[in-house]
Amino acid sequence: MRIFVILICLQFSFNSFAHSGRNTSSQNVPPKVSREKISGCVYMIKGMGGNIGICSTKGKLIMVDAQFEKISKQIKNQLKRISKRDVDFVINTHWHGDHTDGNKFFSKKSHIIAHENVRKRLSEDQFSKFLDRTTKALPTTALPVITFKDSLTFHVADEEIEVKHLPKGHTDGDAIVLFKNSKVAHVGDHFFKNKFPYIDLGSGGTVQGYVENIKTLLKMIPEDYKIIPGHGDLATHADLKVFSKMLVHSVERVQDFKSLEKSLEEVLKMSFLDEYASWGDGFISKEKWITTVYNGL
Ligand SMILES: [Zn+2]
Repeated sequence: MRIFVILICLQFSFNSFAHSGRNTSSQNVPPKVSREKISGCVYMIKGMGGNIGICSTKGKLIMVDAQFEKISKQIKNQLKRISKRDVDFVINTHWHGDHTDGNKFFSKKSHIIAHENVRKRLSEDQFSKFLDRTTKALPTTALPVITFKDSLTFHVADEEIEVKHLPKGHTDGDAIVLFKNSKVAHVGDHFFKNKFPYIDLGSGGTVQGYVENIKTLLKMIPEDYKIIPGHGDLATHADLKVFSKMLVHSVERVQDFKSLEKSLEEVLKMSFLDEYASWGDGFISKEKWITTVYNGL
């Protein structure tokens, strides 16, 4: 029993740090890469980093996000169970390494597609003050070869896939992907299921924009869709509503405190968001979340 608990803890700490790509002692634990059929052409692959969405149709294999290069072969092994094809297109939902590092592996056989700001950011080293970490630029061969400004549509057998840019949200280059016939949306890091989100204020992300984008998503995504969040388990429209409620509540409270000229230190000592205590167990603690909202408003 004790060994089992230790294993769970190691796996948990591995996943917690996966988003940052930080080196930890748990790095030696091989990540478990799993595959789940969602609906229609769509599958979800979980491993280390942002959730991967797959659409397998007759004649095309399309992947949303690529996690880390170090587990690309394990991801490829899961893909082999879905299709005999190589991946035709990889769509990056944004530039963060836990969604794009695997471009280095998949770009050998696939076309990488992303918003134009993703290509710009992946072309140069990116320093994050919030994480105190530099992410190296990707080699030219792993950069997106097709970029878009607002939207893009794929017309493949039995499926229409819409890719839409959401401005000034998690970063300045976010895209969400709608698999319209399969009724599945992959919304990248605009959704952390039952977790406080990371908003990258240093990469053009904004708190207000993020909150507005979630409201847009709630209108854009039909209620019967399944939703693949950037991080966390498969979700529903109702789960996204709960997430939106937490965001709006956080912003309103922090705005109230700021209008009373409370300092960040004072706000951090206030008792609020207590009902979301378990949401701080992941990559973003409650303190980091409140700090982001405070600094971002
Ligand atoms: Zn991200």
